[in-house]
Amino acid sequence: MKEIKLSELDTKFKYDIASQPGAENFKRCFTCGTCTASCPVAEVNDDYDPRKIIRMAILGMRKEVLSSDIIWMCQKCYVCYARCPQNVKFADVMSILREMAVKEGYAPKERLSEMEELDKFAQDLRCNMVKYLLKPDKKQGDVIKSMVEKKINVK
Ligand code: SF4
Ligand code: SF4
Repeated sequence: MKEIKLSELDTKFKYDIASQPGAENFKRCFTCGTCTASCPVAEVNDDYDPRKIIRMAILGMRKEVLSSDIIWMCQKCYVCYARCPQNVKFADVMSILREMAVKEGYAPKERLSEMEELDKFAQDLRCNMVKYLLKPDKKQGDVIKSMVEKKINVK
């Protein structure tokens, strides 16, 4: 477990986040964990934990949060948003963290549009895979193969 040094914490971080539209309730989080327990990303990725990200942000771990790969994993499904008893709107907080990461130079400026494109691709791929699972045929299989090959530039 990483040691947290009080001298390295940025006490302004939580106020910077909470001042953005959509994050007004962010400091109300009381660490109940409902978001993490409901999150489809946390279900498949043990490193992904919305409750922990909020706690780190409230503590002032600006650099650790904004430079983390974890903030790019959220798929903006809004389940946590709907279930949070404190109305934290975590999906919106995540958008704010991403924008801050780009603005403060922790991530390249094209990252936001890359993520939008990836989310669209993931939905499109899922729809095509559902079609294949419901009615497997070679043509549909080729569509899926071609999509994946194009995305990862397989020759
Ligand atoms: S569900 Fe809301 S209150 Fe509970 S840990 Fe998540 S953000 Fe905090
Ligand atoms: S919006 Fe993000 S953090 Fe919230 S449940 Fe969906 S994937 Fe998880």
